[in-house]
Amino acid sequence: MSSPKSGKQTIRCNVLSCTHNEDCGCDLSAISVEPGCGRHSGNPEDESLCGSYQCRNC
Ligand code: SF4
Repeated sequence: MSSPKSGKQTIRCNVLSCTHNEDCGCDLSAISVEPGCGRHSGNPEDESLCGSYQCRNC
């Protein structure tokens, strides 16, 4: 069962190297936020990465 908020959030994003980025926004209706593999430092840059990222030029 999906959450009532599912698909209703606006995702602003400045990761311009991602293929889903369009004018500093995400063109997906939902993304997955995941911790970096094996990282448990408590630092935001380790704990909360976009799991839906796809490299634009890779
Ligand atoms: S998939 Fe993630 S990294 Fe890519 S534009 Fe959307 S929020 Fe940003």
